[in-house]
Amino acid sequence: MLQHLCDSGSSSIVRRPYSVSANPPKPPKGKLSNSPGVILLGLLGIGGIAFLSFTQVVGRRQGQSVVPDAEKKPYRQAQTAFSPEEVTVIFVLGGPGAGKGTQCAKLVDKYNFVHLSAGDLLRAEQDREGSEYGQMIKDYIKEGNIVPMEVTIKLLENAMKESIKKDEKQESRFLIDGFPRKMDQAVKFDDSVVPAKKVLFLTCPESTLLERLLERGKTSGRADDNEESIKKRFKTFIDTSMPVVDEYRKQGKVIEVESVGKIDDIFEKICAGLDPVIS
Ligand code: AMP
Repeated sequence: MLQHLCDSGSSSIVRRPYSVSANPPKPPKGKLSNSPGVILLGLLGIGGIAFLSFTQVVGRRQGQSVVPDAEKKPYRQAQTAFSPEEVTVIFVLGGPGAGKGTQCAKLVDKYNFVHLSAGDLLRAEQDREGSEYGQMIKDYIKEGNIVPMEVTIKLLENAMKESIKKDEKQESRFLIDGFPRKMDQAVKFDDSVVPAKKVLFLTCPESTLLERLLERGKTSGRADDNEESIKKRFKTFIDTSMPVVDEYRKQGKVIEVESVGKIDDIFEKICAGLDPVIS
């Protein structure tokens, strides 16, 4: 694609000896500008410019981009930190307690993924001595709110770079769990880190989620595994994270699995969805 762009770019600047000379002869002063043909050409030129400006404004007003998609894509891809040919990313989404962590652990064994949990990375940063974001992250997590994307995306990108640096020979496959939880994160990650290949979405009734989380809360030591925080997390998931799932569904990227029943049975269903994608 880049090659293609370069090709077309260079052909447009080829100077043919008969079309443009280095010192083109200047038209005799006064004579040309007064001729009726030139006046007509001038009027046509002004009309053309006005028409182009008008179509651009209308295009923008109607929410259309004036840059054709074919031209935009290579530019957007050129901005990503990783190439989708070299780095595969699968997002894992689902309400709190849907079993994302449990299933990710099994997927790591089977497909050799590197598992990154946005929540775990944020908790580690929160506890890191000297972190300027520690208190802010703590407050967001306690309230079940979405931590600002700049922090979350940077932590993920750093963890990916670290993992790739550690094991350059290994094909880079990442399971990113609990991310993206908000539309701005999805757009920013796809545009600046690498576009996700698929999104695994685990569904589960809220009553089951609540039961699981309260049970986990007895031993997890997490500040947000209590009924008050859990309810806030549910609301955040419905209001803020579901639109992300819907958007990826439109893009045909979602593998949806009902996460109710035995862990191994759920895992089998997930593998049936992932096998054709991950060889
Ligand atoms: P989890 O460990 O996935 O249950 O996430 C626990 C909490 O961490 C969430 O309720 C959020 O406050 C925060 N968090 C996790 N993932 C993200 C994310 N992708 N973006 C922002 N905040 C997040």
